[in-house]
Amino acid sequence: MKVRLHGTRGSYPTSNRENEYFGGATSCVELINGTERIILDAGTGIIALGSEEYYKNKEFNILLTHLHMDHIQGLGFFGHLFNPNNKINIYGPSTTYESLYSRLNRYLSPPLFPIPFRDVPGNIEIKEVLNTELIIGSFKITSNFIVHPGPTVGYRVENQGKVLTYIPDHEPIMGSMEMFDDDDWLSGFDLAKDADLLLHDAQYTSKEYSSKVGWGHSSMEHAAEFAHRTGAKHLLMTHHDPLHTDEIKKRDFGEFMDNHDYDFEIGLAVQGSEIQL
Ligand SMILES: [Zn+2]
Ligand SMILES: [Zn+2]
Repeated sequence: MKVRLHGTRGSYPTSNRENEYFGGATSCVELINGTERIILDAGTGIIALGSEEYYKNKEFNILLTHLHMDHIQGLGFFGHLFNPNNKINIYGPSTTYESLYSRLNRYLSPPLFPIPFRDVPGNIEIKEVLNTELIIGSFKITSNFIVHPGPTVGYRVENQGKVLTYIPDHEPIMGSMEMFDDDDWLSGFDLAKDADLLLHDAQYTSKEYSSKVGWGHSSMEHAAEFAHRTGAKHLLMTHHDPLHTDEIKKRDFGEFMDNHDYDFEIGLAVQGSEIQL
C-alpha cells in the first residue's frame, strides 16, 4: 500500500512561506492499493484530490477521525462531491445524542457553508463508526475511540500484510505528563500495536505540552514513547503546530533526536510525500 500525505498541519491551515516545507494543508492521508483508494480525514489537504485528473474513480471512501474543523474543512471543497454520478461514503463518529449526518450538516450548511448538505449533488452515504471493524475492498480497517476532546477515533488499516495506524489528534494518557506503565491504560494501544507505520500527533515540544495537558495533543516525547510501547516500526510525527515554522520544526526535532535514542525510525510528516509499505 502507498501512503500519500496530503495534509500534515494541525489546528488550522497556514500559507506562510516559512511553513511551506512541511506544508500548510490540514489533515488528510490517502492510502492506495492499485486502483483502490481510501482517504483518511478531510482537512484542507483533501482539496488537492478533487480534480478529475487526479482521481478518476466514481466511488470514494472518506474516513473521518473526528469533526474538528482541521479534519473536515476541505470536505465542502472536495470537487467530487458535486458530481451526481459519484458515490461518496463518509465514515466517522456520531455522539450519543447526534448523528454523524447532523454533526456534518452543522458545517455544510448556511451560514458556515453556502450550499445545504442535502443539496450537494453527489450521492453521499453517511456511515457511523464506533469501535468498529470494516472492510473496504482490500483494506481491513479497525476504528477505536481514543483520548481527544469530543468523540474521536483512530484507524488501523491493514492491507497485504502491512499495517498503517493513523492517530493524528491524541493524548495517549488522560491529563498527565507521565505515561502509565500498564499498556491496557494507554489510549490507542491496540490500534498501533506492531504497526509498520504510525502517523501520530506530536504537535508540541514537552515544554509546550506542560502548559497544554488535556488539550488533546501530544508532545514529541509522548508520541515516541507511545510508538516504542506499541512496537511500531516507523513513527511519522504529524499535526504540526501552525505557529511552528520549518526552521522551528527542524530545530525542535533535531534537539529531540539528540536527546533520545529509539530503535525504530522516527521522522516528521511532510505534505506531498509518499511512503511505500
Ligand atoms: Zn486536529
Ligand atoms: Zn482535534
